[in-house]
Amino acid sequence: MTLETSIEYVKGIGPEKAKLIKSVLGISTVEDLLTFYPIRYLDKSKVYKISNLQESNLEIQLKGKITHVQEIQTGKIKRLAAKFNDDTGTMDLVWFQYSKWMKEQLPINREIYIFGKINVFNNQYSMPHPEIEIEEKKEGDHRLSPIYPSSEKLTKRGLNQRFFQTVLKNVCKEIPNLIQENFPDYMIKAFKFLSRQHTYLNIHFPKDLEYVEKADNRLKFEESFFFQLGFGLKKLHHKTQSFGNSFPIVGDYFTNFYQNHLPFELTNAQKRVLKEIRLDMKRPIQMNRLLQGDVGSGKTMVALLTMLIAMDNGFQSCLMAPTEILAQQHYNGIKDLLEGTGINIRILTGSSKASQRKIIHEELQNGTLSILVGTHAVLEDKVKFKNLGLAIIDEQHRFGVAQRAKLWAKNRIPPHILVMTATPIPRTLAMSFYSDLDVSVIDEMPVGRKPIITAHRREKDRTFVYNFCRDEIKKGRQVYFVYPLIEESETLDYKNLMDGLEHVMNSFSDYNVTMLHGKMKPDEKDAAMNYFASGKAEIMVATTVIEVGVNVPNASVMVIESAERFGLSQLHQLRGRVGRGAEQSYCILMTSDKLSKESRTRIKTMTETNDGFKISEVDMQLRGPGDILGTQQSGVVDFKKLDLVNDSAIIKATKDAVEKILENDPLLVKPDNLIIKNYYVRYYKGENKWSKIS
Ligand code: ADP
Ligand code: MG
Repeated sequence: MTLETSIEYVKGIGPEKAKLIKSVLGISTVEDLLTFYPIRYLDKSKVYKISNLQESNLEIQLKGKITHVQEIQTGKIKRLAAKFNDDTGTMDLVWFQYSKWMKEQLPINREIYIFGKINVFNNQYSMPHPEIEIEEKKEGDHRLSPIYPSSEKLTKRGLNQRFFQTVLKNVCKEIPNLIQENFPDYMIKAFKFLSRQHTYLNIHFPKDLEYVEKADNRLKFEESFFFQLGFGLKKLHHKTQSFGNSFPIVGDYFTNFYQNHLPFELTNAQKRVLKEIRLDMKRPIQMNRLLQGDVGSGKTMVALLTMLIAMDNGFQSCLMAPTEILAQQHYNGIKDLLEGTGINIRILTGSSKASQRKIIHEELQNGTLSILVGTHAVLEDKVKFKNLGLAIIDEQHRFGVAQRAKLWAKNRIPPHILVMTATPIPRTLAMSFYSDLDVSVIDEMPVGRKPIITAHRREKDRTFVYNFCRDEIKKGRQVYFVYPLIEESETLDYKNLMDGLEHVMNSFSDYNVTMLHGKMKPDEKDAAMNYFASGKAEIMVATTVIEVGVNVPNASVMVIESAERFGLSQLHQLRGRVGRGAEQSYCILMTSDKLSKESRTRIKTMTETNDGFKISEVDMQLRGPGDILGTQQSGVVDFKKLDLVNDSAIIKATKDAVEKILENDPLLVKPDNLIIKNYYVRYYKGENKWSKIS
């Protein structure tokens, strides 16, 4: 037997069961079986008493006798029911699916152990499909029985816990031949690990709970370690092997802009980040940098200054944004800033006219266009640059990996890549998933910003809220009203928004109200946005299309309707639309009276902090890591043991361990480390889907 052996050949399985197991659980090899980890362990030394049962849905063991069996027919459905007694009471055992054979073979009036999940109905306990054990327990039987993730489909066909326990026992006998060590002695000693063989033995048939923990710990460590090793090797490879355009010069474009056009002093954080970027681009190696900065921290200016450095070195840049509105806004903003510099900048989106496209294509190819701002449209094959040297991606979590990788191919020598995000990524995730990117953080807001005041209000407070908005408008400010998307029904969505619009228009009939939603045509969106941005409209009613990036500094009140329907990161993004100027800004979270526990946590978090990193930590606790990374990325969070939310200590330890090892032995050629290398090459190479994040 080897790890690759089909489970069909494992004692107790055979071809038919193998097929079923494969289709239900996706297990096809011995290795799959060994890594089919128990979800928990049943303490079989513990025998419950019927009279002491308190909760249902608990998986327990009872000892007693079956006294009576009968078939019961209701309508067309037959079930088998049995009375089970222990010395404290009686309960029903029920089978909804059973064979004639089973009916005849149920042991009556014999001392047995049964275990399974208990149900309670009308104060009467019952156990559907219990597993039955007749043998008297011998000394030395494992106290802790593994409970495997199973399914009703398998249980009904006899592939129950006992089946998996037996099969795994058979496989575990082969562990000495199957499992080889993959950590060197020095690591095993340093981390006090169980040997790898003991790890697998104890994860299935643990000596005691302490050993479960030890085995668990090592398995988590392994998963994280080899995952990190993959990133570490890639980063190393990138640094030593890959090539890029060196940008040694900071020249006239940059200096002229910095001295004559910069409308404000950069924050220290912006300066620091810019320096990091500059040093990176100096080297003839492609930059791959993630720029993190909370909403409003001023990433756009950093992006612009970086593009000017590219120009100083004779290269073109592009800035890609996830939505048309945002691209348009970047374009408008940057164009304004560049006024008087003579720099040629254009915008390309899905709705750009053919005539415009033609000009853009020409100018890109003859090199007269220096900065292209756009949406996904810039990725199209038709869009060819003369010499693209820098690609910046705003709000990178909105883009898929494949889309980003397309940018690499836009030049023979790949352009430097800067990805920007305002979605603060919890530290553990950043450690795990962005470890082949260099990270810069803008951790400081422009001076004069006042923290946004956030309040939770309910329907009964609506008049008060509207009066408050009116007072703000009277002071010259502007107000957003945002309505949630109800994904199941676009019509409902629209109705929701329209009702909101009508209500707001009636209540603020003395002011101009404009509206923005996803279904509008690009030029309608533009018009609405401009109407608001120019101050002609005091109020903007919108869906979450304004969530990302929209920048109207004079808007100081954000009212979020049905706020309980939004996720935390979305609320934080929306709130970031205000507080962008010098005025005190407010975010008002309107909710219904009844809130789920989770909604309450979200609302409370929002009212308590403006710190995006704190918010992201809570968000990860609530939603789990997959959702945070976004659908594009959640597929890679398929660790069997490692838990990205709770195992940050292990992730940190493995990251440090990998760094230390690669620092001393980057090619893993030292005899001690060969064992790691061999395992990595054998099992992990090529499996890391995160080869190119940017
Ligand atoms: P984000 O990081 O969310 O993309 P922006 O780049 O849109 O933030 O910047 C938010 C606002 O702050 C913009 O109006 C911008 O002009 C302004 N801003 C950026 N940097 C500074 C600074 N150093 N001092 C003052 N205002 C700044
Ligand atoms: Mg932005």
